[in-house]
Amino acid sequence: MRHGADYLRAHDLDAAVTALAGGRWRILAGGTDLFPALQDRPLDGAVLDVSAIPELTRITNDDQGWYIGAAVTWQDIVRANLPAAFDGLKAAAREVGSIQIQNRATLVGNLCNASPAADGVPPLLTLDAEVLLRSSAGARQLPLGQFILGNRKTALAVDELVTGLFVPGRRQPASLVFTSLARAVIWLFRSAWWRRGWWWMMRVSSPMRRLRSGRAVR
Ligand SMILES: Cc1cc2nc3c(=O)[nH]c(=O)nc-3n(C[C@H](O)[C@H](O)[C@H](O)COP(=O)(O)OP(=O)(O)OC[C@H]3O[C@@H](n4cnc5c(N)ncnc54)[C@H](O)[C@@H]3O)c2cc1C
Repeated sequence: MRHGADYLRAHDLDAAVTALAGGRWRILAGGTDLFPALQDRPLDGAVLDVSAIPELTRITNDDQGWYIGAAVTWQDIVRANLPAAFDGLKAAAREVGSIQIQNRATLVGNLCNASPAADGVPPLLTLDAEVLLRSSAGARQLPLGQFILGNRKTALAVDELVTGLFVPGRRQPASLVFTSLARAVIWLFRSAWWRRGWWWMMRVSSPMRRLRSGRAVR
């Protein structure tokens, strides 16, 4: 009986596409979804690591729009010089996990994992982002809304990988904001706490005043 995983760290896109055409691989980028999902189970099967493919680590732009490679991390997004329309995406990037997670985890991994809680999906939908896919049969491009098919379901074929995202250029300058539901709930609780806090201070301070002035306190 065979245990353990085959591991291939591709250094160019062609090597990754050729490997995918020849067998079933599990694609690894930052591993921050893939490894926790294993829980106590060991990593088995064949793993194709795409994090060292140089063309996937870049953020570029041309007349058409912006291209974000599949190995671009959340931290790369935070640091990138991007137009104001990406402010919502940057705000989302700063909210993902922690600095350690942001340093490893990729936007594309977030989308391919297709979690309903994925922080990358809402800001990228507002940017009309498209997913760039590649296999030995060629390249295709899908709007993000057609790439994610449901909870943990995407349109990715078994012999395909995502090479990156395309965000079309906008004629009108726009600025977007992002706040997570968790943050909104914390804010609501905090503001409610503050209000309750003031209410308690009123409740305590007015009898105190009355006590000091010698009046009876019930
Ligand atoms: C402690 C912790 C906190 C987290 N907090 C948040 C949070 O606040 N918000 C949030 O949204 N997420 C969070 N996550 C989840 C995770 O960090 C993100 O979803 C992250 O962006 C995934 O990227 P990755 O590169 O690590 O993906 P990986 O784990 O490498 O891959 C995830 C999935 O995508 C597939 N995949 C990756 N790259 C490709 C590719 N190029 N082509 C095809 N398939 C690919 C993999 O096969 C796998 O199925 C957290 C995770 C941890 C462990």
